[in-house]
Amino acid sequence: MSKGRFGKFGGQFISETLMPTIQELEESYNHFSQNEDFNRELTDLFNNYAGRPSLLYFAENMTRDLKGAKIYFKREDLNHTGAHKINNVLGQVLLAEKIGKTRIIAETGAGQHGVATATACALLNMECVIFMGEHDIKRQALNVYRMKLLGADVISVTSGTGTLKDAVNETMKEWSTRMDDTHYAIGSAMGPHPFPTLVRDFQSVISREIKEQILDTEGRLPDVVLACLGGGSNAIGSFYHFIDDKEVRLIGCEGAGHGVDQPNTAAALQAGRTGIYHGMKTIIAQNKDGQVNPVYSISAGLDYPGVGPEHAYLADIKRAEYVGINDEEAVQAFEYFSRTEGIIPAIESSHAIAQAIKMAPEMDKNQIMVVTLSGRGDKDCAAIARYRGEEIYD
Ligand SMILES: *Cc1c(COP(=O)(O)O)cnc(C)c1O
Repeated sequence: MSKGRFGKFGGQFISETLMPTIQELEESYNHFSQNEDFNRELTDLFNNYAGRPSLLYFAENMTRDLKGAKIYFKREDLNHTGAHKINNVLGQVLLAEKIGKTRIIAETGAGQHGVATATACALLNMECVIFMGEHDIKRQALNVYRMKLLGADVISVTSGTGTLKDAVNETMKEWSTRMDDTHYAIGSAMGPHPFPTLVRDFQSVISREIKEQILDTEGRLPDVVLACLGGGSNAIGSFYHFIDDKEVRLIGCEGAGHGVDQPNTAAALQAGRTGIYHGMKTIIAQNKDGQVNPVYSISAGLDYPGVGPEHAYLADIKRAEYVGINDEEAVQAFEYFSRTEGIIPAIESSHAIAQAIKMAPEMDKNQIMVVTLSGRGDKDCAAIARYRGEEIYD
């Protein structure tokens, strides 16, 4: 089976029941991704609903302060709903509509993908059902309320630990019992083929714009592109159009939690091994018996035990580099960026900022660094305050 492979990673490890639907999705995607009307409609949604193109912002204060490379930020935080996730869901929900589906299901952990999906469904008149672990529902009351306000049903998942991986399992199970009218809008560049490819394509608008914008302002390509990495959708979107430009270093920043040497680190590419999980062959954080580890990072968007298969491949062939950033480094970057640039970053994105803070001073003043700011940090303020020993709500 060579379909949807990235080297030895990727593939379609799914039940027989799901095969026809996955095949239909693959064929439809092959058709619509080449279809002018589809691409025009999607670009219209990107530009007139999500607010694209997003800015490429020169961080003058930070550049001056770190005394090294010129640092630019790709402002995905300025998109409607506050992160890059909208790029993927607009693409998938529009595709589902073209295929004739009327109902969208999705998993969510912290609720960010659930909110983005519910938003796209409200816009495009789709029924929307979001599966969320019961533990996460308790921790993320505001996002649960937002999803309901947007017209979605939120189903509480009580199996396992009641968190993201259980929600993924439950959504897959739901899909295999109801495929005729339902599309599963997966939240990152992961899962069985064709998801890693189609999610990457929808997110690759990020690197397409970065390339145009940096050529416009600097007249040359960046020396390095940095992005944070959970499942890997904003990172692969930021890397994609630079993969053939060998002189551009590509660096993915994983959530290491308490450290890459800890058994529950979420930095799969630092500490994991090859395995099969959620329909794909990839690198997964697992124990010596092959049990998937319960992983932890301060960032809910990064605490996934695997990575998308294309990242496993780029790491394998050494085209991209991957580093682990621990909680304390990310929180310091969150605070630093807020007071230095007047932009409160998502705690996920703060992992990439932390790596920029490490690297920029070692680089030359005429070198260029682009960091993808995957989302805004309003959602994280209460958790960061608590991490620093302060309660902002009673
Ligand atoms: C969900 C999320 C991430 C992690 O997801 P990827 O698929 O790895 O991009 C990163 N940043 C933000 C702001 C998110 O909401």
